[in-house]
Amino acid sequence: VAARLSSSGFLHAQGLVGGKWTDAYDGKTIEVRNPATGEVIANVPCMGRNETNDAITSAYDAFNSWKKLTAADRSKRLRKWYDLLMAHKEELGQLITLEQGKPLKEAIGEVGYGAGFIEFSAEEAKRVYGDIIPSPLPDRRLFVLKQPVGVVGAITPWNFPLAMITRKVGPALACGCTVVIKPSELTPLTALAAAELSLQAGIPPGVVNVVMGNASEIGEALLSSPKVRKITFTGSTAVGKKLMAGSAGTVKKVSLELGGNAPCIVFDDADLEVALKGTLATKFRNSGQTCVCANRILVQEGIYDKFADAFSTAVQNMKVGNGFGEDVVQGPLINEAAVQKVESLIKDAISKGAKVILGGKRHSLGMTFYEPTVISDVKNEMLISREEVFGPVAPLLKFKTEEEAIHMANDTNAGLAAYLFTTNVQRSWRVAEALEYGIVGVNEGIVSTEVAPFGGVKQSGVGREGSKYGMDEYLEIKYVCLGNL
Ligand code: ADP
Repeated sequence: VAARLSSSGFLHAQGLVGGKWTDAYDGKTIEVRNPATGEVIANVPCMGRNETNDAITSAYDAFNSWKKLTAADRSKRLRKWYDLLMAHKEELGQLITLEQGKPLKEAIGEVGYGAGFIEFSAEEAKRVYGDIIPSPLPDRRLFVLKQPVGVVGAITPWNFPLAMITRKVGPALACGCTVVIKPSELTPLTALAAAELSLQAGIPPGVVNVVMGNASEIGEALLSSPKVRKITFTGSTAVGKKLMAGSAGTVKKVSLELGGNAPCIVFDDADLEVALKGTLATKFRNSGQTCVCANRILVQEGIYDKFADAFSTAVQNMKVGNGFGEDVVQGPLINEAAVQKVESLIKDAISKGAKVILGGKRHSLGMTFYEPTVISDVKNEMLISREEVFGPVAPLLKFKTEEEAIHMANDTNAGLAAYLFTTNVQRSWRVAEALEYGIVGVNEGIVSTEVAPFGGVKQSGVGREGSKYGMDEYLEIKYVCLGNL
């Protein structure tokens, strides 16, 4: 697959600075590997401070002209980019599976989802309206203008190599901002392919720049530059806190999408089929490697045994393997560190009384494949309930009352997504309102879409992505007072 993508010109292995494909100053590279096989797919430049500063300069120069285009013009180019992403859905999907490991069908699904942010942004670009405020004085007129914040530094993770980029870059460009993207070093190839398509779509050189390599050095260059007016980040809470603190030096705007600890609450009155389907979908998507994956499955005592049985049977039937394999629904974990984290969380849980119903060990396929796992008798105090598992492990916790479930669900520093399953309308409203989360799925496990706001409360982040609200993150408000009329 890599050879085919390479010969079709789809595999770029250089950074993009000012519209030019570039190497690191010192020629150093880093390997990008296929997590399913360990094979090296490509070597990409290991960039740092200097290359990032070049990218910032390019973005800063390009900002001057990009912001002056009409919204309609920017919209057309974004729409073209969307069309090109969709026209190359298969190749992009293959690239995602190759460097990230998720099953091809899921990867192609990510392309549609990711491209959706570009399409939506193309449409919203035309709707950045200002305001006219009735003046308190007769000889004045008061206006509110919305203007792009400027150069944006976008730092993204490996779990959605395309979508985490498009949901930042789409609205940024629509508003008139330019960007320096730093994709994860584990999955830079999808980002580079998408950037190539942006050039083909007529998005001018310098508007989209991509650098990768030494993450902390690149981060430092972005943070210290007064030209970068905004940092948008998706990744771990620890790195998000560093970026937030680092943004203080030049008082940048920040948007952060950080770790979650999603509770998935199944009440006695849930429709069992709906609850099973939804819980499986939210838990095992991307082999459990998303920040909105159910991290704790809270099941009420009356339905607990029935749910645990049916859930385990369904999990047992999931096919694990290379994402290119037929019928595979669970790919490998991203790397060895991810497997070790899962192992240590399970070990801690077992030592404190949890029981393995299914799986609980590395898969016989080797590499970073892990058996889809269900563990019962989990308690909220165990590490597995406190930390983000980011793997194919479903911890089941038992509760008695609605109040107890709400308390358990909110007993965490995270607040990204939560799910609940019930057929009682009153309860669904009551619980949805009581949950301290930015996103709540009621009788539904997959809720992300470009048209709705995605984001967390508490330590899961600040700001929202997608929807009309996501546009505000890239806009400044300017008040203009016209006096002495
Ligand atoms: P994950 O656990 O999802 O890998 P990370 O927060 O480690 O989460 O990584 C998310 C993104 O943040 C990646 O692109 C990574 O390279 C980048 N990153 C990690 N450390 C830093 C840092 N000190 N400064 C800037 N970016 C960083």
